[in-house]
Amino acid sequence: MALRDYPRRAAELIEQRPEVRESVTRAALHFDRNRARAYAEAPAEAWRTYAKGVKDHLLSRLADYLEAAEARLTENGVRVHWAEGPEDVHRVLGEIVRAHGVRRAVKAKSMLSEELGVNAFLEAQGVEVYETDLGEFIIQLAGEPPSHIVGPAIHKSLAEIRRLFAERLGTPPDASPEALAAAARAFLREKFLTAELGISGANFLVAETGTVVLVENEGNIRLSTSLPRVHVALVGIEKLLPRFEDLAVFLQLLARAATGQPIGTFVSLIDGPRREGETDGPEEVHVVLVDNGRTAALADLEASEVLRCIRCGACLNACPVYRQTGGHPFGFVYSGPIGEVLAPALLGPGEAYPLYHASTLCGACAEVCPVKIPIPKLLLTWRHRAAEEGLLLPMEKAMVRAYAEAVVRPRAYRLASKAMRAFPGALESERLPLVRAWTRLRSGLRPSPRPFHELWEEIKDEREG
Ligand code: SF4
Repeated sequence: MALRDYPRRAAELIEQRPEVRESVTRAALHFDRNRARAYAEAPAEAWRTYAKGVKDHLLSRLADYLEAAEARLTENGVRVHWAEGPEDVHRVLGEIVRAHGVRRAVKAKSMLSEELGVNAFLEAQGVEVYETDLGEFIIQLAGEPPSHIVGPAIHKSLAEIRRLFAERLGTPPDASPEALAAAARAFLREKFLTAELGISGANFLVAETGTVVLVENEGNIRLSTSLPRVHVALVGIEKLLPRFEDLAVFLQLLARAATGQPIGTFVSLIDGPRREGETDGPEEVHVVLVDNGRTAALADLEASEVLRCIRCGACLNACPVYRQTGGHPFGFVYSGPIGEVLAPALLGPGEAYPLYHASTLCGACAEVCPVKIPIPKLLLTWRHRAAEEGLLLPMEKAMVRAYAEAVVRPRAYRLASKAMRAFPGALESERLPLVRAWTRLRSGLRPSPRPFHELWEEIKDEREG
């Protein structure tokens, strides 16, 4: 899906499927209210500063911590693989599938696996793949990508899910949410028991101990990582934490930012395969350390702060632009504010254009981010670079040029602003193509009755007088 078509996809969705906007807005605001309450109940500001410091430190010595993590994981009996991109991940998975005769895989929710096209690859190898997170299960049944980092089915109404489950799982058309969840649980139970392979991501990987940390509310991750004979964890290299004690803050901060819970219902700490005398757990654990553009992003000093992200989704919930459409129109695995700055960092500004323009720069994302990523600043960096690379549309270029010409000529500027105030309706006229494009989905532009320079003179006079 070309990211360039984001504006068209967003406009079509708003016009043709208003129910999506309603579902996304309701759920995102609910998450955001819970986050605000959970932050207020804890020393959130101090934790955010601490978390930012830990991640900055980690990123400044990432190569050392990666080597330390590899050594600890290996000591723990985990097989470690390094992957530069999707091809390497597919090669590792292909080898595991062949070595173990894998016919069925169960998956925990992993945005990285979406980024790497894992499901499509495994299915092409003849492996049945089942998403086991309820939200992921719903969108897998619907044949759709996730619409939100934490709530992948956030765009779906209860009525839509009822229809989907009735068609695919035979539930009654008026089934309650509890009955729908029970139907999904019953369907997946047999898959958990018969899958040879379990795939997960990782919320954190502790370099000091080689511990893969997974946070969830449903218990499906625990089943996916302990019932099949083989567990593969896909870990982005930025997901490391230096020390085990860092988890004390990160686990609380992640849950509070994501859903407003003090901590996730289940926290799994995976230290390796089943050991002698243990009754459950996989025989083999593999950790794939994935780069896929992250090293290049780290080397870019103006953009590398994006790598602090712990994928909590709080910036999506806070974002008034994301709430209009959900994630699908973005066309990138990660949507909303984090997607707008991660896409250019991983793909380059040309490929990611114009996602970093999908923001009002209101700053709500930066205010809620648990690791203090300055998303508006990063958005401006990418916009600046796009302009330097000549990526603006011809109309945008002409407008910026005209504005630049006007502001350096005060008389021309004042004349233009006077003309606008004399004919305020002009900026709402459907006859002007640019204005028409603006007002199709928004209220019209109305110039201020008094220009700023007049107000400024008044303020100055008052101060001086
Ligand atoms: S940028 Fe911050 S708020 Fe957004 S998902 Fe990442 S950690 Fe969460």
